[in-house]
Amino acid sequence: MNLLDSHGSKHCGNISQVKILDSTLREGEQSVGVNFTKRQRLQIAWMLDRFGVDSIEISPVVSESHRESLKEMTQAGLRAELISQGRALPEDIDTSINCGAEWVAMYHSVSDIHLRSKLRISRDDALNRSIHAIEYAKSQGLKIRFTLEDATRADPVYLAEFAREVALAGADRIGIPDTVGAMLPQGMALIVRTIKSFVDKPIDVHCHNDLGLALANSLAAAEAGADQIHVTIDGLGERVGIASLSEVALAFKVLYHEDRKYRYDMLSELSQLIASYTDRPVPPDRPIVGKNAYTHKAGTHLGAILLDPEAYELISPEVVGNKRRLVFGELSGKNGAAFLLRMLGLEATTANSQKLAAGLKKLQRGDLFDLPIEKEFKEKAGESNREETDANQHPNAPIQQAA
Ligand code: ZN
Repeated sequence: MNLLDSHGSKHCGNISQVKILDSTLREGEQSVGVNFTKRQRLQIAWMLDRFGVDSIEISPVVSESHRESLKEMTQAGLRAELISQGRALPEDIDTSINCGAEWVAMYHSVSDIHLRSKLRISRDDALNRSIHAIEYAKSQGLKIRFTLEDATRADPVYLAEFAREVALAGADRIGIPDTVGAMLPQGMALIVRTIKSFVDKPIDVHCHNDLGLALANSLAAAEAGADQIHVTIDGLGERVGIASLSEVALAFKVLYHEDRKYRYDMLSELSQLIASYTDRPVPPDRPIVGKNAYTHKAGTHLGAILLDPEAYELISPEVVGNKRRLVFGELSGKNGAAFLLRMLGLEATTANSQKLAAGLKKLQRGDLFDLPIEKEFKEKAGESNREETDANQHPNAPIQQAA
C-alpha cells in the first residue's frame, strides 16, 4: 500500500457494503429557495434511481403535493427503496400508509435541549412516545427506520439506552443524525461504534455541514460500521445542508477504490438539473460538478496538464460528466501560450510561444478567457509536447504560481 494512499485496508472492510440514501426530496427541499413541483420530484427520483442510489427519502407530511409525489413514486417502478419520513406520531404514520409507503422513517428528538426547549417533555415521555409510534407502525406492517434526532448532542448513556429500546420495540434501522453538524470525525466514529455495541440493527448516518465536516464525518461513520450514508444532490438541506451525493460517491471510488455500479457520468447533470429547478446556480467552485473543478490556470499547471492531466486532476472530468477547461491570460506561461497558438492554427515555435507568454504577462489583464478542452486536447497537447521535447526543455520551465 502506498504510504500516501488515503485509506488503510484495516479501516474499510465494510465500506463496500455501505449504502447511499438520497434525501434531496426531503432534506433538500428544506434548502432556502428550493421547492420542487411534482413533475420535478418524479424526474429527480427517476434520475437518482438511474444513478444508482439505494434509497430515496421524501416526507409526505409536508403537503398534499408531497403526498401525491410519494404516491407517484411508488408507482414509478423505481429500483431504489422509498423511505417516507414523518414524526413519531400515529397521524404521520397514517399519512405514509395512505401514500402506499412500505418503509417509514420516524424521528424523535433525544437531546436535552430539544426535549426541554422544542418539545417540553421529559426523557421518559420521549421514549414512551417513540415506542408507542413504533408499535403502531409495526402493527400496520411497516418497516421502520427510527431517527434519534440531535443524537450527537444527547447524553450518550440516554442515547444508547434509547437506541436499544426502540430496536427492541421493532425498529429495523437506527438513524444517527449529526443534526447541527457538531461532530469531529473521530467523535462520529465513536458514537457509531457505541450504538452498534448496544443495537444489532443497521445504522444510518445523516451529517450536517455546519462546520464543513459532513463528508469527513459521514466517511468516518462508515469506517466505524455505519451501513448507510444520507446525502443530497449538491449537499442541499436545512441551513447549509448535509453531505453531497457527488462527494460521497466519488470518495467511495477514489479514496476507497470501490468498483461501484453508479452512473458517475450523471453527477454533473444531476447538479445542473437541480440548478435549473431552483434559483440556485451551481457554484463554480463546487467540488466535482462546479465549472472550476477541472479548470487549470497557472503556467506550471498548464504545462503539466498538457503532458498528463493526472498531474493535477484526481479524476478525469469525463468520469463525472464535467469538462476540463484551461484559462488563458497573465499566468499562462509559454506552455499555455504554445497550446493557444496551436488552437488558433498558428505556428507554435518556442520563440513565438515565449513572445506570446511575455505579451500576455505584460498586458496585466489577469485572466482573459477560458476554453473547454475536449477532443482536440490530446492532439494539440501532443504537438505541444513534441515541441517541448524537441526544444529539450522541461515542461515546468516557465516559473509561475503553483499550488
Ligand atoms: Zn437533516
